[in-house]
Amino acid sequence: MTTFSGRYDLAVVGAGIIGLATALAAVRRGLRVVVVDRDAQANGASVRNFGFITVTGQGRGSMWSRARRTRDVWLEVALAAGVQIVHRGLWMTARRPESVAVLEAFMGTEMAEGCSILTPAAARRRFPQLKAPGLAAVLESTIELRVESRQAIPRIAAWLADAHGVTFVRNATVHRIDLPQVGTSSGSLEAERVAVCPGDDLSGLYAERIGAHAVTRCKLQMLRLASPGYTLPAALMSDLGLTRYAGYEGLAPCAALKTRLQAEQADHIARGVHLIVVQSADGSLVVGDSHEYALTPDPISHEAVDALILEEFRAALGIDPPPTMERWTGTYASAADRPVLIDAPAPGVRIAVVTCGAGASSGFAIGEEVVASLLHDGATR
Ligand SMILES: Cc1cc2nc3c(=O)[nH]c(=O)nc-3n(C[C@H](O)[C@H](O)[C@H](O)COP(=O)(O)OP(=O)(O)OC[C@H]3O[C@@H](n4cnc5c(N)ncnc54)[C@H](O)[C@@H]3O)c2cc1C
Repeated sequence: MTTFSGRYDLAVVGAGIIGLATALAAVRRGLRVVVVDRDAQANGASVRNFGFITVTGQGRGSMWSRARRTRDVWLEVALAAGVQIVHRGLWMTARRPESVAVLEAFMGTEMAEGCSILTPAAARRRFPQLKAPGLAAVLESTIELRVESRQAIPRIAAWLADAHGVTFVRNATVHRIDLPQVGTSSGSLEAERVAVCPGDDLSGLYAERIGAHAVTRCKLQMLRLASPGYTLPAALMSDLGLTRYAGYEGLAPCAALKTRLQAEQADHIARGVHLIVVQSADGSLVVGDSHEYALTPDPISHEAVDALILEEFRAALGIDPPPTMERWTGTYASAADRPVLIDAPAPGVRIAVVTCGAGASSGFAIGEEVVASLLHDGATR
């Protein structure tokens, strides 16, 4: 049993990026915070992802604004907590005229701030390895960041503990919330407020509240490839990504692109495959991904899906991928009708679940929203 000292202003359930972001927002408002996580070390989506903090392509409106705010907070936190920004920017490569039409439409929106279109020749001058014969254009954004999540998440938690006095309780499951009592498998603690940030645990706390919003889970396959000996100019994506990111997908020309991709890459579409390539400090490449939706996705990493991801790598870059060093899967909560679920099951309690697979890109803004909403509760009680 853990000995808890006194009553906390806020208990956060879950030490993934949403829980950490909520804890940060709370300490910045002067609150005394405890974070409880059932795992002995970070093991959820927050350490299985690309660490790609994406603004360009996030859904127009609130998600795009959240991503911009989150990106700015990442820069502050990275500096303070000693998290390396491994690289910056995005190159969205396009091989089809329908994709170029989407990029041009995107450039006509407010979301194109910091973006420009590169000709194939201009792109190849900066990155000669981009040899795809059909390359038609590249949308360059300079705003994106990439962190190594496996290192960044533990480092942010350690910094919150050391620099901000946040208490972390690991290996403890929260099973009951009846304010001010919070029941955990390591004993009871007292808190004025609770933020439940459970990731894709849809069957634990407030399962009935989360279930009412038709939230399911999405499984992704990921690969780490050996260092290819070259340095990426930015995170790389390809045509398939234009149909998966709401900020492009919502633009009128995307309908024609979808029709063409369905005809040319039906297997990729069926397995939800698109391409993201980011680079680590040792030169290795993190490459993905696929999307399989189910309340309980199968536990298998399918070779056929990895082959589709690598096929798109070959097509988009025009070169063979280096050898695969690691494979893993990850899951996140997913809902068709909303990017984020913030619910208030009781006064002083909030549930915060990112339901669009962009928690690293939106989390710090969501943490601020959750804490503001909880403090508003207190002010009106
Ligand atoms: C493979 C993959 C790639 C991705 N790539 C990106 C990307 O590049 N950029 C991006 O923006 N997003 C990406 N995402 C999405 C992003 O990782 C998620 O949206 C985000 O990590 C969700 O964070 P979280 O804190 O809600 O969940 P998690 O990281 O899953 O953390 C939730 C934590 O809560 C704990 N918990 C749950 N219930 C309890 C309980 N009752 N008691 C105690 N502890 C509990 C869990 O043990 C877990 O540690 C990706 C996701 C995956 C799976």
